Amino acid sequence: MTKGELIFEGNEKQVFATDHPDQVIFRYKDVMVAYNNVKRARIKGKGALDNQISALLLDYLNRNGVETHFIELLGEKEQLCRKIEIIPLQVVVHNRIAGSLAVRLGVEDGYRNPNTIVDLRYNNDKLEDPFINRDHAVALGLATYQELDGMYNIARKVNDLLFPLFHRAGIELVDMKIEFGRASDTGTIIISDEISPDTCRLWDEATGERLDKDRFRLDLSRVEESYKTVLDRLNQVMIS
Ligand code: 5GP
Repeated sequence: MTKGELIFEGNEKQVFATDHPDQVIFRYKDVMVAYNNVKRARIKGKGALDNQISALLLDYLNRNGVETHFIELLGEKEQLCRKIEIIPLQVVVHNRIAGSLAVRLGVEDGYRNPNTIVDLRYNNDKLEDPFINRDHAVALGLATYQELDGMYNIARKVNDLLFPLFHRAGIELVDMKIEFGRASDTGTIIISDEISPDTCRLWDEATGERLDKDRFRLDLSRVEESYKTVLDRLNQVMIS
């Protein structure tokens, strides 16, 4: 497999073509952005940590019946992935209400909802990723009702798999954002972006300490150490 031209450059990752028509290479950068790119920093080692954590989680999902774009790790910062057509939606699962949802609903950050909440957002930087509903998504031609049902079901299954996995690592999966795409070879809907401390809220069960991107958003420092803690603990539960 040969690495080809750069086909997409995002804030935190690059995507390269390969000589296989249905495969691409994701390269994670040492860059972190937040608040719709208003806050930005270079964090040495962050790309490698994100790459490894995401590879570990996506591989776990692949092995447990959830199709993702992940194929294999290629190096410290790179992974081979299936090519997809992007669906510009974010499906967000909340096991607790925190962050922007807590503000929107007027509850304290970390409110314990008795039910699992699944939200839909339009992935659109100009509009600041607004909350939308299924009817909006269909009206915009982003997905069919059947595809949306599929995405909601996959999101709940991912939560059912990852919540206990993180719990074994002494970490609470507070919420997470999942993105989907249509696989270029089969057209099926698969998970098409990273799952990592960049896209999840992860709280240490013992101390309540945040081990995710909120450390950067809220200027809590020790961002890379926290990501390293997540990787080390996940590696430990994977081998035990
Ligand atoms: P919130 O709506 O509070 O910003 O985020 C809810 C959850 O989804 C958090 O785990 C957050 O990290 C993730 N999330 C929501 N929007 C984005 C986004 O645009 N980028 C990233 N990386 N994560 C997001």
